[in-house]
Parts: sequence; structure tokens; C-alpha cells
Amino acid sequence: MSQTKTLRGECQHCGEPIQFAAEAVGLTADCPHCGQPTELLLATPRQEPTVPMKTIVFTVLAILILIGGLIAAMVAVNRLQREAEQRRGAIVATDGREAQAADPFARLGFLVSAVSLEKTPGSSLVHATGTVRNRTDRRRFGLKVELEVLDSSGSKIGTATDYQSTLEPQAVWNFKALVLEAKAAGARIVAITESP
Ligand SMILES: [Zn+2]
Repeated sequence: MSQTKTLRGECQHCGEPIQFAAEAVGLTADCPHCGQPTELLLATPRQEPTVPMKTIVFTVLAILILIGGLIAAMVAVNRLQREAEQRRGAIVATDGREAQAADPFARLGFLVSAVSLEKTPGSSLVHATGTVRNRTDRRRFGLKVELEVLDSSGSKIGTATDYQSTLEPQAVWNFKALVLEAKAAGARIVAITESP
């Protein structure tokens, strides 16, 4: 009984499977299929990718397109954020005067002032005050002004709101929003909403 191990390989010429004794590995023998001399080597795993090349190419293209879209989206978001910052800056910079048409609330038919903090004499109450002008010729209902309360370094530390049930055409609303943060050093309008 032979202890010799039989190995499987393939002909280097015709690719047909051939079997040979383990000791014969590396030797050259004639292929039983095509008769050509071939080295007796273990069958190597096929190098062909399991996924067709076309699929790989399409996948890579799809990924590139996705990444491109993602980058474009991020650039767009960054630009919007920058523009928003600039608009806020414009409101703060007007310092008491009514903001110019570039402010984001002009689109909504409002003209807003800068916001100042007012201490109520004889109490510890602080209010954020300013004006919102109705620049349209229609009466506005259920107005709400939302403010960000800022500390001395300009970081947001809270919010404040005020409401107005109606605002006549071209009228000015002097809003007064209670500020609860003891460290408040400023405030800015972040939204004006209107009930339909
Ligand atoms: Zn062969």
C-alpha cells in the first residue's frame, strides 16, 4: 500500500487537470491530455476576479459620482452657512439702525433692527428689545420673534422670544423678549414666524 500522496494540478498547456505523486512536484512530465511536457505544479487558484470587471468599473464610477455629489453638497452647505453668518453679521453691524434690504427677514416682508439688552429699573429683569417693521401692505398675524442670547464672547447661551398678535401694514413692533441668562451680553434675531 503506497503512502504516497497524490496531488492535483493542471497542465500548463491545455489546462486539463492532472494528478501526480507528491514527490514528483516540480518535475516535468508529458501531459496525459495534450502530450506536451508540463511542470507538475499544484493547481493555483484562478486569478480571475470573482466579480466581473464591468461590475467593478461601474461600482468605482458610482462611488466616484457619489463622492463628487457629497463634496458638492458639502461645498453648498458651507456656502449657505457662510452667507447666513454674513447676513447675521450685517444685522449686528447696523447697531440700532434698521437693517438694509440684505437682511434675511426682508424676504419675509420684515425690516428688523439690531437688538439691545435693557435692564428694567428697580429689578433684575433683562429684556432683549428691538423693532420689527411690517414692510407689506397686509396685516400680519400671530408673529413670533425668536432670539439667540449671547454671552460676552458671542457664544449662544440661550434663547428668548416675544409674540405679537397683529401687526398693521407698515407698522413697527417694538418687541421685548425676557432674557433669563444672567451672563447675557447681547442677542440677535434668528427667526420671525407668522401664523397663517
Ligand atoms: Zn496538457
